[in-house]
Amino acid sequence: MNINNKFATRQTHLDFHTSPDIAAVGSRFSKENFQRALKLGNIDSITVFAKCHHGYCYYPTKIGYQHPGLDFDLTGAMIDAAHEIGVRAPIYITAGWSHNDAITHLGWRSVNKDGKFILNGAVDDHSAPDAPKGECSWHMLCLNDGGEYADHIYAITEEVCQRYSVVDGLFFDICIVNDACYCESCKRGMRDMGIDIENDNEVKKYFVIKRRAFMEKCSEILKKYHPDATIFFNSGGADPYKPEYHAVQSHYEMEDLPTCEGGYDKLPVSAKFFANKNKAYLGLTGKFHLAWGEFGGFKTKEALKYEACQMALYGAGMSIGDHMHPDGEMEMQTYENIGYAYDYLEKIAPFCYGGEPVVNIGLYCSSRAEVNEGVSKILLQHQIDFGIISENNFSDFDTVIIPEYSHLDDIALESLKGYLCNGGKLLAVGDSLVVDGKFAIDMGLEFIGEAEYDCDYI
Ligand SMILES: [Zn+2]
Repeated sequence: MNINNKFATRQTHLDFHTSPDIAAVGSRFSKENFQRALKLGNIDSITVFAKCHHGYCYYPTKIGYQHPGLDFDLTGAMIDAAHEIGVRAPIYITAGWSHNDAITHLGWRSVNKDGKFILNGAVDDHSAPDAPKGECSWHMLCLNDGGEYADHIYAITEEVCQRYSVVDGLFFDICIVNDACYCESCKRGMRDMGIDIENDNEVKKYFVIKRRAFMEKCSEILKKYHPDATIFFNSGGADPYKPEYHAVQSHYEMEDLPTCEGGYDKLPVSAKFFANKNKAYLGLTGKFHLAWGEFGGFKTKEALKYEACQMALYGAGMSIGDHMHPDGEMEMQTYENIGYAYDYLEKIAPFCYGGEPVVNIGLYCSSRAEVNEGVSKILLQHQIDFGIISENNFSDFDTVIIPEYSHLDDIALESLKGYLCNGGKLLAVGDSLVVDGKFAIDMGLEFIGEAEYDCDYI
């Protein structure tokens, strides 16, 4: 059952990554301007910021550093303005990237196996301070539970939870970008657990345990003060291929960004995957074309409306990324465009949310996104709807498709055999059911080997 009808589905995600060199931050913020934008955009939820990638807080803090160009509680002012007109205001806290913390606490940084700091993007950490940096170059900080930086985020989380009497939710960013860390804290933790740090798989397992523990502790802190608040850990929390992090999310925000990162083909598979989780899920796109923080870029309102329709078609709510100007004034053309899409989304919502998808073809998700998206494209271009097979529920479908690079464990194979015995139909692609050089189920076929050429024509 799709439960998005019970949640906010017309959201804006308001970024505010603001350099410490900028003065008079928030000087043009006003409640009236902020509320006018939310009303113009027909928004029912806006994610507002408490701490940005530059490492500064936008409220008076005893734990972190307030932005030097700010002299009032901008986070609180946004929350109050939103609540006064009935709009939710979950709070954004950057996690994995925080430049000020990275340069003041070298020990908080994530380290790779070679002992070098992990950097986002190909940036030479040993270049001169004034050498040009690549786009979006940030030091990766270690969030693993047990480390000092994780403790710092717990303290920020607690401070935010105590400071505001109503917290609708928390959104932590940059949470699961790398999959291993060799910082001193992690090495110590691995030694304590008896893990061989030369064994890459064991190091990755440790990372998952400690990263999940980080998320669970943040959730515990939030629930202590605001039991009904939502929590989401972005940059991995809604990745269908990282199932180990799904349970801790209260809902899923799929940062697909069709025009800059994911493309339009990513959403159908992701949305159908998260539709099975009995939690709210929404697509995250941008009012911009190419990148977060692109102040001057305007996606056309028709493009936003198309994306709203596509998300709603797959039962997903919508979140549109924006970036507030450092002076705190909301850009009205942006909200006019968002309103154009959201007015339409509001009209079609009763037909999109709260229902039960009816499909007779099930797709088994392989380990490769491009494979699943390829199958999805073939089906959707022929207007054939499909669902995602979840927990081996083959019997929910008349026909199941197992694409290449699928890995069915013994339980899944037994379940599939039972399904076929009961008359279920199967389309197995490539080597999807080949185990140890043989088909794992009797299809009246013999596996004679890999194809000799990379392209075959039938
Ligand atoms: Zn670490």
